[in-house]
Amino acid sequence: MRCWAMAVKCQTIVSIMDRLAPRKFAQDWDNVGLIVGDPLQDVSKILVALDATHEVVEEAIEKKVDMIVTHHPLIFKSIKSVRSDTPVGMLVMKLIKHEISLYAAHTSFDIAPNGMNDILCNILGIYEREVLDVTYSEDYKKVVVYVPKGYEDVVRNAMCSAGAGFIGNYSDSTFQVEGTGTFKPMEGADPFIGEVGKLEKVEEIRLETVVPQKYLDKVINAMLRVHPYEEVAYDVYSLANLREEYGLGRIGVIEETTLKELALKVKAKLKAESLKVVGDLERRVKKVAVCGGSGASLIHKAVMKGADVLITADIGYHDAVEAQHLGLALIDAGHFATENIAVRFIAEYLIDETQKQGHEIEVFVSEVQKDPFTCL
Ligand SMILES: [Zn+2]
Repeated sequence: MRCWAMAVKCQTIVSIMDRLAPRKFAQDWDNVGLIVGDPLQDVSKILVALDATHEVVEEAIEKKVDMIVTHHPLIFKSIKSVRSDTPVGMLVMKLIKHEISLYAAHTSFDIAPNGMNDILCNILGIYEREVLDVTYSEDYKKVVVYVPKGYEDVVRNAMCSAGAGFIGNYSDSTFQVEGTGTFKPMEGADPFIGEVGKLEKVEEIRLETVVPQKYLDKVINAMLRVHPYEEVAYDVYSLANLREEYGLGRIGVIEETTLKELALKVKAKLKAESLKVVGDLERRVKKVAVCGGSGASLIHKAVMKGADVLITADIGYHDAVEAQHLGLALIDAGHFATENIAVRFIAEYLIDETQKQGHEIEVFVSEVQKDPFTCL
């Protein structure tokens, strides 16, 4: 017996996609998120593709999907009209007419940890990697709180459970030192220790830890909830030395090989029909920078970070000459091949995440979208 797919709200898919590709990462010029559609629409079938091309939209209509998720946004810049005699207008009208929503995860997905560029690195076996070009960073704060002795564990646990104390691969990172706190409860106070009008000296623990800015309110609220004092003394400092950085492209290492061997591996792994290489094919390469899609603007970053080779797409003639001058090898594997690898990943992610929430929806990978370039 066939089990009918259950529908989810379009907004639920938007939230699931926003977790994979947080919109805060998107570049200023980009346009990500829900581009066409009704957030309250029921969605039981989704089509995932690199672009919302004419063929992909026709495929969506034929497969009777409720939503299309793409990498490239159909609408990049503000449009002043939606007309059937313009390519974009015609597609927007078709989507609305067939009640198909459209969501795009573009630079938000390129930059996100585990997004496009990390998928590319996983496929190509690039490890010990870091961000090539930092475009977004998150600041950290230090929170110091004074706790009566005996309450330090409960306060520490509350703060760390709310997101404090993470440094690299370590959790629960805090420091504490004993000291003496003084206070005199005034008229109207309801002190946990001491009495009104009398100076108290109390053994206290100074407990300190680091908190990402985004969790600061949550951590302070968690701390205040379990702290026994009526008025809690705590400080928040800005940190200049600790920040989380995100950005475009990745740089890491591979097992040393020749440029030619690496290029052939890239071609096979990305199922690229052809690719272009700049540099001596016999040169040894180990440190590799990658950027899915157009990454010629990252040539200088790759050189600065010591890359032997940059794997990307849309390399122009002048970019190639410049890279030669700078001693950087290039592998241009094509825009489609370097990014289409993510389509199946997004489809599988959507299936997994909706199943975790108890929904069973159908997710298709576009069968019609092809690289617009033909190699002869
Ligand atoms: Zn692209």
